[in-house]
Amino acid sequence: MTRTQGFDTLQIHAGTAPDPATGARQVPIYQTTAYVFRDADHAARLFNLQEVGNIYSRLTNPTVSALAARIATLEGGAGAFCCSSGHAAQIMAFFPLMEPGRNVVASSRLYGGTMQQLTNTFRKFGWSAKFVDFDDMDAVKAAIDDDTRALFCESIANPGGHVTDLPAIAAIADAAGVPLVVDNTSASPWLIRPIEHGATIVVHSVTKYLTGNGTVTGGAVVDSGRFDWSASGKFPSLSQPEPAYHGLKFHEALGAMAYTFWGIAIGLRDLGMTMNPQGAHYSLMGIETLSLRMAKHVENAQKVAEWLARHPGVEAVSYAGLPTSPSHERARRLLPRGAGALFTVALKGGYDTCVKFVDSLELFSLVANLGDTRSLVIHPASTTHRQLSPEGRAAAGAADNVVRLSIGIEDAADIIADLEQALARAAG
Ligand SMILES: *Cc1c(COP(=O)(O)O)cnc(C)c1O
Repeated sequence: MTRTQGFDTLQIHAGTAPDPATGARQVPIYQTTAYVFRDADHAARLFNLQEVGNIYSRLTNPTVSALAARIATLEGGAGAFCCSSGHAAQIMAFFPLMEPGRNVVASSRLYGGTMQQLTNTFRKFGWSAKFVDFDDMDAVKAAIDDDTRALFCESIANPGGHVTDLPAIAAIADAAGVPLVVDNTSASPWLIRPIEHGATIVVHSVTKYLTGNGTVTGGAVVDSGRFDWSASGKFPSLSQPEPAYHGLKFHEALGAMAYTFWGIAIGLRDLGMTMNPQGAHYSLMGIETLSLRMAKHVENAQKVAEWLARHPGVEAVSYAGLPTSPSHERARRLLPRGAGALFTVALKGGYDTCVKFVDSLELFSLVANLGDTRSLVIHPASTTHRQLSPEGRAAAGAADNVVRLSIGIEDAADIIADLEQALARAAG
């Protein structure tokens, strides 16, 4: 078959074929730790990366590999590997690029947990992050120095739903000779494929829309296969003899798959942030309906955001699908299918009004999650963004009077009815 298949076909078929051993149509859960080598020579060839195959499930597992291949295909990448969570995927994405003393230039609009990881946990590795406004291209350029090894942002930034100008940021990364790493969790590849806009690497919290039903904690790292790791001396793990893998020069030996293989052969081997086969199976089932769910998510989000924007108890709605959003034009250009289903609402009132509002919602669940079929709500100031300073919260779009909504795929009228009664109770 030579024609390129469409997204709806690929989300069901990419990376999988009927099971060669049993003919099973659905991808089996290969619940095994290890794999029998044909003989000692076969074992040696696998360990030398001369032949691709399964050795031990900390590195690869057929169920997990099927999911990785499907995500790589949907994102238009050369290769991918899965991880135990979205946060694990972020560490794993940076691990091949970084060394003590190196830094990442990151957007100041990020998931609260990611701000923490990049600020405090990065330090434990001797890495650092500089947070800048990714709408200010001069500030991004100015933040890059000789020790910068990556730029990092979210395609649709959590929690405010702000859209990043990926082509402009990618151009800056290109000029500086560093990869652009994009967290595409809030958008999913059905809304935007960052690699098509110049990203080098895409990370996902598979926990969210890709699985889509709130059952799995997982992550994925996708490599475009396009970055020239040998063009500068900046990425010795990939371009120089790797002491952690008997001196193999990954880029020279593996070309477009160098980063992916390094991530598995060294990253997963030594950090062990591996996805389990059971979780991969649930994610494979979820991903089959990604396009159908995303279409309904964005349709509902648009209706709900428009309704909220007209409500007298609401001060502002951040949704990029509204003409009042500063990223509206950008969303129309980069996200023609819709601006996602995650946004914030600033209520008239403060912290206490928001607490009353979230406590009054009945259909919405008050949870620290997003991208579920169910509508979800959280008050960032009292939860996910609690550890940040008030200024940091405001900069991240999570001021005290702000709640974040993740609009589900229920009937839009029921979602709106729930918001209406909770706004009335919060005001009363
Ligand atoms: C949830 C989330 C993460 C972290 O993923 P986990 O699977 O919870 O570890 C990272 N980035 C974004 C945008 C997220 O929403």
